[in-house]
Amino acid sequence: MPDQLIDKFNRKVTYVRISVTDRCDFRCVYCMNEKMTFMPRTQLLTLEELECLGKAFVELGITRIRITGGEPLIRKNILQLFQKFGKLEGLKELMLTTNGSQLVKMAQPLRDAGVKRVNISLDTLKPARFQQMTRFDKLDVVLRGIDAAIQAGFERVKINAVILKNRNHDEVIDLVQFAVDKGIDISFIEEMPLGNMAERDRAEAFYSSVQIRQALQKSFTLQPSSETTAGPSRYYTVINTNTRVGFISPHSHNFCDTCNRVRVTTDGHLLLCLGQEHSADLRRVIRENPGNIVLLKQAIVEAIALKPKNHEFELEGKPQILRYMNVTGG
Ligand code: SAM
Ligand code: SF4
Repeated sequence: MPDQLIDKFNRKVTYVRISVTDRCDFRCVYCMNEKMTFMPRTQLLTLEELECLGKAFVELGITRIRITGGEPLIRKNILQLFQKFGKLEGLKELMLTTNGSQLVKMAQPLRDAGVKRVNISLDTLKPARFQQMTRFDKLDVVLRGIDAAIQAGFERVKINAVILKNRNHDEVIDLVQFAVDKGIDISFIEEMPLGNMAERDRAEAFYSSVQIRQALQKSFTLQPSSETTAGPSRYYTVINTNTRVGFISPHSHNFCDTCNRVRVTTDGHLLLCLGQEHSADLRRVIRENPGNIVLLKQAIVEAIALKPKNHEFELEGKPQILRYMNVTGG
């Protein structure tokens, strides 16, 4: 059994994102429809199954795990999983992506469990707009959650903002200023065409990283940073501040060549590329062979061979990927 995962394009896979629930307490317009049908709970991996999976990945050379969803922090007893993962020898970074709604009470316990970095989604600083974009009036709770995360002393706190034309594109400067004032980082994400959104045309709302960067340069001096993190962001430092600004541009192929990551969907499929359907059913392997970590590792090794060279998102026309982001894990 190898102790590293290397795909057929010679990329070393060291990073896995695990979606622990498809459910969420928000309904962001780019992620979900207002009415969603969620998976029967029996299809979700149990906490024990997730723990086994984490162990198998780390034994195969995975050094970074990010827990995501849906909203991971609304899954019952999820703190226990963070505590188990926090103890995995060989895991260098345990990370979380959250909408921030539960951080007031959970930030400190998560930090204590060993979570090093937290990404918190925040697309707007305007309450009415927040309600339009998430369909919930919870901006205040999220802002308090961000403060709780800063207080808890994570190594890195980062805002994730999805920018949509004519919804929030005029706020990019204010969002960076917010990050600068708080001494945290921020990444801007181009919307990805995942899932079918009944009420809107994604191409109409597309606002590119280049447009965002041009807007920011009117107010800030951005210096390209040589820093790379585990993720696909390209970073710039806001000169004379502690803040880095990242740009995630899935429509360009800029991150495929060096892609080091895979995802586990809420129902236990190992997804080899966010923009393709290649996957392996790890839940079946786990359930047919309970406790057999060797077979699980073997299934992961075999699946890595399926990792495609690059994604094939298309902006216009029908979405090719019918999975929603909450199942995939952003
Ligand atoms: N609920 C958590 C949150 O919102 O941070 C974690 C899951 S969410 C699916 C992870 C990230 O994916 C968030 O930053 C969200 O803004 C982003 N996201 C969701 N749908 C997206 C889409 N269609 N295109 C680009 N980013 C998206
Ligand atoms: Fe929920 Fe996150 Fe999707 Fe928004 S982006 S609906 S918070 S899972």
